[in-house]
Amino acid sequence: MFQKILIANRGEIAVRVIRACRELGVRTVAVFSEADRAATHVRFADQAYGIGPAPSSESYLRIDRILEAARQSGAEAIHPGYGFLAENPAFAAACEAAGLTFIGPSARTLRLCGSKTAARRLARQANVPTVPGTDQDLSDEEVVAGAPTIGFPLLIKAAAGGGGKGMRIVREPGELPSALRAARSEGQSSFGDSAVYLEKYLERPRHIEMQILADGAGQLLYLGERECSIQRRHQKVVEEAPSPFVDEALRRRLGEAAVAIAAAAGYRNAGTVEFLVDRDRNFYFLEVNARLQVEHPVTEMVTGLDLVKAQIGIAAGSPLPVRQEEVRLRGCALECRIYAEDPFRNFIPSPGRIAVLRRPGGPGVRDDTGVYEGYEVPVHYDPLIAKLITWGESRAEAIQRMRRALQEYTIIGIQTTIPFHRRVMEDPKFLAGDLDTTYVEAVLAALPPPTSRNRRAAIIAAALHAYLQDQEAAAAQPQGPAAAGSRWLHTARQDALRRR
Ligand code: ADP
Repeated sequence: MFQKILIANRGEIAVRVIRACRELGVRTVAVFSEADRAATHVRFADQAYGIGPAPSSESYLRIDRILEAARQSGAEAIHPGYGFLAENPAFAAACEAAGLTFIGPSARTLRLCGSKTAARRLARQANVPTVPGTDQDLSDEEVVAGAPTIGFPLLIKAAAGGGGKGMRIVREPGELPSALRAARSEGQSSFGDSAVYLEKYLERPRHIEMQILADGAGQLLYLGERECSIQRRHQKVVEEAPSPFVDEALRRRLGEAAVAIAAAAGYRNAGTVEFLVDRDRNFYFLEVNARLQVEHPVTEMVTGLDLVKAQIGIAAGSPLPVRQEEVRLRGCALECRIYAEDPFRNFIPSPGRIAVLRRPGGPGVRDDTGVYEGYEVPVHYDPLIAKLITWGESRAEAIQRMRRALQEYTIIGIQTTIPFHRRVMEDPKFLAGDLDTTYVEAVLAALPPPTSRNRRAAIIAAALHAYLQDQEAAAAQPQGPAAAGSRWLHTARQDALRRR
C-alpha cells in the first residue's frame, strides 16, 4: 500500500478521496489554486501545496506544477478524481515517467476511451451494439453525405466530447451546416479537438450505465447499473441504483457487455460503461468514462463496496475486493446533485458566501460536500457544491428519506437546486420510475415560480443573519497575548507554512 497520495483535484471529490485514504492509513497531499486557499480539501489533507492562480488552466490543469508538488511532498501516487486531468493520457504518462503511480487506467486505455469513435470501434469488436452512426471522425463533406443514410433526427457529436458539450441535434437537412459548425467549434474550444461524427438521435431513451472494476491483469467485474436519465442539457442531476427499469436478465446482459468492452480496452481501475436503453429494453453502447464517476456513491450504497478504496487497492497491486458471484445489490440509493445555481432563473450560476449551512443527517443519509458555513463558492469552477445521497430497503424508502433530507438541508446566502429536487421527489412520473432523458424539461415546465414575497423575505433573512454573525465574530475576536493560543491563528499559521 502507498504511504502518501496526492489528490489532483478540488471540491467534494478531493474530500471524498482524502476520506478513503485516511481510512486506509495513507497520508494525503492536497493541491490548491489561489481561489481555494480556504477550501475544505485543503483543510482536510495532511499537506497542501499552492499550484497557481484561480483559472484551472493555470492551476488544476498544470501537469508540471502538480508533479512538482508530488515530488516535493514525497507522494508515491496521484488520484485524479473526475474532471480536470482525470482522463488525460498525457497526465497518466507524465506520472508514470516521473515514477508516480497514476490511480486510473493506462495512458493507452485513456486514449482509446477518450475518443468516442475509437470507443465505438472497441464496442463493435466486443460485439456490443452501438447507437447507429459512424465509427470514424468525419470531414464536412462526409457529414453531409452520411446524414441521409443515418436519417433524421440525428446528432453531430464531438469525438472528444464530455459533460454534454459538443453535441447538436439536427432534425432536418437544412440545420446541418450550422449544427456542424457549432459542434466543431465547441469541441475545439472545450477539448482542443474539432473532430466530429454522427449518431442517430434516439427519441426518449433511458441513460443506464454499468459500474465496472478491473485489475488490468484479466480480472473484471460489474457492480450493477445506475439509472441516470434525469438530465439537464445532457448532464445528470439525479441518479439512482438500481434502475427501476432493469431486471436481473437485462442487468446481466449490460454487465457482460460492459466487461467485454473493458476487456477489449485493456482496462484497469474503476470505470463506467454508458448505454442508452429503449422502451423495448434494447441497449446501445454510448461511451466509456475511464474514471470515478460523480454518481459513484449510489453504487457504493447498494453494493457496500468503497470504490475509491478499490481504485487505490488496484493501483497498489491488490486483488479486486470481491468476486463477481459475491456482488449483491441491497436496497435502493438515490443521489441529488446540489448545484450553486438558481433553478427559478434558468439555472444561472449563483456563486457567493454561504451564510447559513445546516446539513441533513440521520439513518440512510450521506452528504458528500466540499463546502462549509461561511465558505465563499468561487466563480471559477463547476458549481456542484454537494451530493446528497439516501439509501432505503426499497425505492419508496430511499425517496422518503431523500424528501426528509432535502427538507433538513438549509443553505442560505446563495441559490441552490434543492427546490428543484424537492419538486422531483414529489413528481408522480418520478415516483412511478417512468423516466427518460427528456424528463427534466417536463418537470421544469411544471415548476411554480416562488412568490416574490417569499424571495424577498429569504434575502432579508440571509442578510440579517450574515450581519449578526459578523457582529458575533467581531465580539469574539481575541485581544492581546491570549490570541497566541487561538485555534484559528494556529490553523492560519499552518496554512501559511504549507504555502510555497
Ligand atoms: P457526454 O460525453 O458529453 O456526456 P454522451 O455521449 O455520454 O455525452 O451523452 C450524454 C447524454 O446525451 C446522454 O445521456 C443522452 O441523454 C444524450 N445523448 C447522447 N447521444 C444520444 C443519442 N444518440 N440519442 C439520444 N440522446 C443521446
